[in-house]
Amino acid sequence: MTAVAAPAGVWVDVVGQEAAVGQFHRAATGVSPLAQAWLITGPPGSGRSTAARAFAAALQCEQGTGCGHCPACRTVLAGTHPDVTVVATDKLSISKDEVRSLVLTAQRAPATGRHRVVIVEDADRMSAGTFNVLLKSIEEPPPATVWMLCAPSAEDLAPTIRSRCRLVTLSIPAAEVVAELLRRRDGVEPELADRAARAAQGHIGLALRYATQDGALTAREEAARTLLGLRSTGQAVLAAQTLVDRATAEAKEHADQVAAEERAHFLRSAGVEDSAVPPALRSQLKALEDDAKRRQTRLVRDVLDRYLLDAHSVLRDVLTRQLGSGSELVNVEVAPEIDRAAGAGSGDLTLGLLEAVHEARARIAGNVPPLLAIEALLGRVAVTLR
Ligand SMILES: [Zn+2]
Repeated sequence: MTAVAAPAGVWVDVVGQEAAVGQFHRAATGVSPLAQAWLITGPPGSGRSTAARAFAAALQCEQGTGCGHCPACRTVLAGTHPDVTVVATDKLSISKDEVRSLVLTAQRAPATGRHRVVIVEDADRMSAGTFNVLLKSIEEPPPATVWMLCAPSAEDLAPTIRSRCRLVTLSIPAAEVVAELLRRRDGVEPELADRAARAAQGHIGLALRYATQDGALTAREEAARTLLGLRSTGQAVLAAQTLVDRATAEAKEHADQVAAEERAHFLRSAGVEDSAVPPALRSQLKALEDDAKRRQTRLVRDVLDRYLLDAHSVLRDVLTRQLGSGSELVNVEVAPEIDRAAGAGSGDLTLGLLEAVHEARARIAGNVPPLLAIEALLGRVAVTLR
């Protein structure tokens, strides 16, 4: 007797993750015992939080199946179920106070559902001290409580925490299933969905962005052309500056938007007008603004990391051509430029460049000024591909 989770009901948007869905489905339907702490890992964009929400819905489902249409399933998926708490953060870290309040939430019995579920989307953003606050609650949760921690990899969490969690690992979904999701869920035109999914290389959120944001795919192609057209150190320095400027603008736009929403929300819940903030609330508003600035710093690094992954995919296409493996290119739009670059260098040199991309990413993550790291990388590309 096997319980195979069909890609339906609450699981319909958890694409390309048959093994993980099977594991969740068995636990939610009582086929296997339900662990009270789960660690859901997978690369960015693989759908960790979508998977966690679907699992939470399956746990609360009134049919006990994760039907996807009962009120419990629907409210969990819509984010309005009273017994499912989701912590998402754009901030650099999750504070001790935030985790303390989560632990209190986790202690409460469910109000209407069968379980109390607490989902932490970026559990890797908790500091070591914060892990200790969480530990007790993960070790001995009340009987109806289920924790779901999401992180890029198990190593991102303290060993004390991860050893107490049931681990579920998501894989990078194939471009075809991502394209299918964009068509079905978001109504994206088939050809655009294919292009966006291919460019995003398994990152679902990014694919959606490419498909829906004006000029995003074109900008990516432009960047690929620039990379492959570098011939001199001077050009490399200019291109590095342009990339960093673009990342800063993109991050600022996003951070400003979130900050404005937060400010409006804060003022609304305090019941005051934007034009007349009483002195007593000003320091809290100031704290919100400081938070937004910290977030922007992280966002710039995230955006640059994405650009570097794009550069990596372009150089990997160059290597594909050099090795003559016949695999399909990720960046078919710039195929002529890729062919030229393949002819200008050799597989060994391209491998060196691919390593240099990883090095640049590691340096930026390690707080080297991004401009410096990117200049060094592009300078090397220019010398190699000219
Ligand atoms: Zn249901």
